[in-house]
Amino acid sequence: MSDKKCAAVLLGPPGSGKTTLARALAARGRISVLETGNLLGKEVRLDTQMGRQIKPYTVAGELVPLELVKQVLSSELENAQGNLILFDGFPRSVEQLELFFQLLKNHNLALCAVIILKLDPQSAINRLSGRRICSQCGAVYNVYTDPSKQPELCDRCAGKLTQRPDDRADVVTERFKIYERDTLPVIEFFKKEFGRLTWEESANSLPDQILDRVWRRLVDAIPRLASNREQAR
Ligand code: AMP
Repeated sequence: MSDKKCAAVLLGPPGSGKTTLARALAARGRISVLETGNLLGKEVRLDTQMGRQIKPYTVAGELVPLELVKQVLSSELENAQGNLILFDGFPRSVEQLELFFQLLKNHNLALCAVIILKLDPQSAINRLSGRRICSQCGAVYNVYTDPSKQPELCDRCAGKLTQRPDDRADVVTERFKIYERDTLPVIEFFKKEFGRLTWEESANSLPDQILDRVWRRLVDAIPRLASNREQAR
């Protein structure tokens, strides 16, 4: 395992803050994040041939077919650098587990941590109804808890803020059901087979508290992460 780079998995229901946490972790250490939902969404936004196949699934909040997920993640992994590759939102079904372990093998990665964010359905609906995404740079805001300075405009790049079509309450409810049906069995698998590496965090804590706790545990699992941070200072 020593010559291998580490991989970590970050799972949680819609609205649990996976991507926000993953980006905050990446800002602390040499971590490459594979934002599965956003990588798929980017193909849709760019209206690529693959994006046109992906779109019906993301709009409905359903899982995108395995072959398309494989193409998107494989090409992204080619460029992934750093001491830790963090899979945000993958593997999300038992069917995807085989692909996950295949990708680890192909890229000489060892599984070092599985982080699970926990959130109840009503909190997810409340959070996602306020979520806005910058159409240009992908920055995430919330009109209730983390608004931009100017309404509907991104603080960083002045891009227009939009609501994801799948953040509507009815679609969020559907996404939550899909999470319980398809992703909870994956979590059970990791708990059973990789219990030492798997832990849960309440997504209701303050974002900085979650970040600190997850960072500390990751550094325990992957001490190299901390030394890189020191070097970067
Ligand atoms: P997220 O931003 O994680 O909520 O993902 C947005 C959408 O992207 C989901 O509703 C799915 O349609 C798709 N998606 C994200 N991750 C996966 C995955 N691992 N497998 C299949 N589809 C996914």
